[in-house]
This record gives sequence, C-alpha cells and structure tokens, in this order.
Amino acid sequence: MNVQTLIERSALFAVNHSGGKDSQAMFAKVKAMVPADQIVAVHAVLPEVEWDGVREHIEATIGDTPLLIAHATKTFFEMVESRGKFPSPKYRQCTSDLKRGPINRELRRYLKANPRFGGLIVNCMGMRAEESPNRARLQEFKLNAANSKAGREWYDWLPVHDMLEGEVFAAIREAAQVPHWAYGAGMSRLSCCFCIMASTADLTIAAKLNPGLYRRYVKTERRLDFTLSPSMRSLPEITGIAA
Ligand code: SF4
Repeated sequence: MNVQTLIERSALFAVNHSGGKDSQAMFAKVKAMVPADQIVAVHAVLPEVEWDGVREHIEATIGDTPLLIAHATKTFFEMVESRGKFPSPKYRQCTSDLKRGPINRELRRYLKANPRFGGLIVNCMGMRAEESPNRARLQEFKLNAANSKAGREWYDWLPVHDMLEGEVFAAIREAAQVPHWAYGAGMSRLSCCFCIMASTADLTIAAKLNPGLYRRYVKTERRLDFTLSPSMRSLPEITGIAA
C-alpha cells in the first residue's frame, strides 16, 4: 500500500494542523497531491495556552477545506494541577491527552458520519526528521494497526518528514502564504506559547509577548515546586524575566 494507491481508493486525508509552519507546508503539499473532496484539516485547540490567532491563521490558509476542531476533556493547566507536575518530554501527556487522543476521536467520528470513505483514512502529521533524532527514526508511512479496527483502515503519513526548515518556509512562500505572526516576532516553533521543550530564546520571546500567561506559568511552578523545563531551571532563571 502506498499514498498514491490510497488517493485512488478515495481515502480521507486528514491533515493535523497546529497552525505552525510544518503543518502549513504539509497542508500545501497534501493539497497539491490529493483531490480536494478527500481532504480535511483537524486542529486540537489548546485553550489558554496556544498563540493568539492560531485558529484564524489555519482558516485563512486552508481555503474551502473543512476544519475539524478537536476538544480535550481538560485544559493544559487542569492536567498539570491534577498531576501536580508539568509533563516531561519522555511522558508527554500533553501531546497524548490534549492533542492525539482528541484528534483521533474527532477523526473516528468524522469517518462514521461520512461513510463514502469506507473507513479508509490517511492521518497526515507534520513531524520532520531534522527536528530531533527521535523524529528522524519515525517511519514516513505505515499502517496504524491499533487504530485499524471497527471497520477502519488507518494509515499514518508524515508528508514533510524529509523537508528541511528552509524548504518548509519556501513551500509556504510558494503557496503565496505567510507563516503565523509569532514566527515574525522571533519564535522558532509554534503550538503552546510555553512548551516543555522550548529553547531559551523561544521561552524568552514568549514571555515578552504573553506577560499574563507567563506569570501564570511562573506561579504554577512555584506552587507545585516543579519546573516547566526538564532542565529543572525555573522560567525566570531561564528567561531572566522576573514575574
Ligand atoms: S507544545 Fe509542548 S507543552 Fe504544548 S502540548 Fe506540545 S509538547 Fe506539550
């Protein structure tokens, strides 16, 4: 089985869209390959912690493609408070509980409501090999056996896995689009404003651009005696910005 065969079999192509540059370049690539009536975009909202204008940016860059919005049963801060700690890069409950789980639920619901796809789905995600050794090891295309049940045939595809950062921005330019405004403000990545895996530069820029949210993270760090960063340095220690 390959992507071309799945296009010909009229599979649904679901483009996971965070609003970030990789999602945007991925959407442009999928759109150029797959008939429009076989594509949906799906976004997991992260209330309170994602960048302003993410949903509007997605809507402005996907044209007439339907946008599915996936909601988690709890917010990032509710998850942190109930666990008494921030997630870690090794145990990323934020990704599984707030993004992957809700998106998979929404896609199952959409497939059920649209029987013309016959349960056949290609879940497109924007991980790139260049980002980390773990991501480099990911398989670009595979059957997702765990999700292939109850009449579903589910494949996972990483359309931009081999693209370099410069090629991602070039693909966005070629689509006559611009990335989300936070890149222009200096951010290298998008999604949560303050990510557990963010660089010092990104955390510092995010703190300057979102002072109220920054104070909330710092207060939470102090109350739980647990840092957002796995380096065990507090946000003010990392950014040099008092709160
Ligand atoms: S952006 Fe970072 S903190 Fe937010 S859900 Fe993803 S891994 Fe977790």
